[in-house]
Amino acid sequence: MTTGSSPLAEELARVASARAALENVVFPRPPRPLVAAVANQKGGVGKTTSVVNLSVALAQAGLSVIVIDSDPQGNASTALGIEHHQGTPSTYDVLSGSMSLEECLQPCGEAEKLLVCPATIDLSGAELELSSVTQREFVLRRAIKDYLAVHRDVDVILIDCPPSLGLLTLNSFVAADQVIVPIQTEYYALEGLSMLVGTVEKIRDYLNPDLRIGGILLTMFDRRTNLSAEVAEEIRHYFPGVVLETPIPRLVKISEAPSFGVSIFGHDPRGQGAVAYKAAAYELSLRWANLGVEDGGE
Ligand code: ADP
Ligand code: MG
Repeated sequence: MTTGSSPLAEELARVASARAALENVVFPRPPRPLVAAVANQKGGVGKTTSVVNLSVALAQAGLSVIVIDSDPQGNASTALGIEHHQGTPSTYDVLSGSMSLEECLQPCGEAEKLLVCPATIDLSGAELELSSVTQREFVLRRAIKDYLAVHRDVDVILIDCPPSLGLLTLNSFVAADQVIVPIQTEYYALEGLSMLVGTVEKIRDYLNPDLRIGGILLTMFDRRTNLSAEVAEEIRHYFPGVVLETPIPRLVKISEAPSFGVSIFGHDPRGQGAVAYKAAAYELSLRWANLGVEDGGE
């Protein structure tokens, strides 16, 4: 089938108008510091990519943002250009109680108001080491509380979780107000999701009554296929109102940015990927800004 204008021209026009619409928006600040764990026990769904690009988008929009890398792989640290060789003050030291969060934070070159607590390979031993600590699920929560007691100007803390529901992810869930779930818009997208939702409910019942699923972010969305649209529809059907409007497209530019140690905003600031992550970050900021209002009614 042929149409009057080419799909590429349409795509470019769509990106240009989305970029223009976002150019002058002001991101609201949440009424209090918001802690969000970015989690999905499936690997390769875009957790780390989303933490990296959402954090830069939020910080470049003027919010004060902290990323806590809680995946021993340290991919978020790499992508944000943060030193994380073995022995660097890191999330491992925070969880083992030997350092405060403040002592481990490093500034990120991409945005003035972005600080990163890196993950080193040491973190791979933390699950085992923590298992004998009393109140082991609360270590990160306490560390964040201590930090926020002194640094009241923080807006958002994003935690990059490993692809499991082990003690590292539990610590993040206990520390968090929200879980943000990236879902790859492909076959089997919903597989395993009930387990994640079940875990969040259990945490809410036993360890952190405030925990909510704050958003589902559709990742690796391919506008050209029916499959992506169908899967997106299905996820929206199961989680009405939870899925963010903006899907993140599958783009080579997004996947290659980490090899330059920068986010999509450093790698291709005017492209589709930057526009999508900025739009998703803006949506999240709007949801967070309204939290105070909604919480009052619950
Ligand atoms: P997770 O943290 O859930 O394991 P990652 O963020 O590391 O997932 O992403 C898995 C892989 O997919 C990485 O190679 C990443 O570069 C790639 N990727 C993530 N998001 C996109 C996207 N929107 N388009 C293309 N590739 C992507
Ligand atoms: Mg990851």
